[in-house]
Amino acid sequence: MSGAVSWLPVDHASRRTRLHEGLPGLDAVLVTRQVNVAYLTGFTGSNGQLLSVPGGGVFLTDSRYEEQARQEVPDLRRVIYPQKLAPALAEAAAAEGVRRIGFEAGGMTYRTWTELSGLEGIELQAIEDEVDGLRWAKDAEEIGLLERAQEVTDAAFDRVIGKLVEGVTEGQVSFELDLSMREIGAERVGFDTIVAFGENAAEPHHRPSDRPLRRGDMVKMDFGCVVEGYHSDMTRTVAFGEPEHRLREIHEVVLRAQLAGIGAVRSGITGEEADRAARSVIEAAGLGDRFGHSLGHGVGLEIHEGPSLRRGSRDVLPDGAVVTVEPGVYVPGLGGIRIEDAVVVGPDGCRPLPRTAKDLLVL
Ligand code: ZN
Ligand code: ZN
Repeated sequence: MSGAVSWLPVDHASRRTRLHEGLPGLDAVLVTRQVNVAYLTGFTGSNGQLLSVPGGGVFLTDSRYEEQARQEVPDLRRVIYPQKLAPALAEAAAAEGVRRIGFEAGGMTYRTWTELSGLEGIELQAIEDEVDGLRWAKDAEEIGLLERAQEVTDAAFDRVIGKLVEGVTEGQVSFELDLSMREIGAERVGFDTIVAFGENAAEPHHRPSDRPLRRGDMVKMDFGCVVEGYHSDMTRTVAFGEPEHRLREIHEVVLRAQLAGIGAVRSGITGEEADRAARSVIEAAGLGDRFGHSLGHGVGLEIHEGPSLRRGSRDVLPDGAVVTVEPGVYVPGLGGIRIEDAVVVGPDGCRPLPRTAKDLLVL
């Protein structure tokens, strides 16, 4: 993340209150995953830790970020440590009078854990995904930023359509998408842009190559950007000239599956139920074994976050979650089609963020 000065004035204290409400029995929570530190404090640098205590806490970082932390984390006591976190944490814990400290099981290296677990007076207790889970439901400001990122993405799609000419390469098209998103207003691209022509689209995550565009190719583009920390993620598959009949049929099946998934998504259902709604359409078309990946994922400060929409997912979608719905069908030697929208989850359904059309566009 970057763009410190443009970070929104969010109520981080109330986010930290929610954290402690969900973890009674702990004196404090040590937050070490940077994305969660950013969410709970507003800090956008690359090294910062939060020792969150009900009603307050301590923010720890190194001297590179002393000034940035002063600006971004004005509401917490700040500690600048020279090298190792462990001694600074021990001091902070003693000063706050906390002993039982939760830590993110997925947010620490073994080395750091070894150093911290040897500290006197501290009892570390692993917590699973509770901190990440706080970020699943987005507030109105977060949704506003996700909408802005999507607007940039839609505009970049409009621009790149004009660049799809015979002979252009996948690499050139992906560069055009990246450049367009930056020019239109993204602070950066959200992930490695996927552009796949023809048979290359049979790989769900194809890396753009120097394969030239030919008449009759389908073009699969999966791309997104970041606006003030928040990601967009959209896939469209268009035809460059009339495609093979089989690909037209597959596009129709994938679109029906995607609409069925969107029709099913609302708060209170599980990720598995959402996945099933879309997957059953593809299975009914006899293509179930060609849809290997999950239906979707949460999107926000991270490009891939919870809740997860996949087989076996017990994640319950909360109001305000923003998740992708992205079924795909991939046939080696022929090609692949995926259609992806991010949607905002509500009690009666969901609202797709993209305005880009989904009917097969034949150029
Ligand atoms: Zn995507
Ligand atoms: Zn996605």
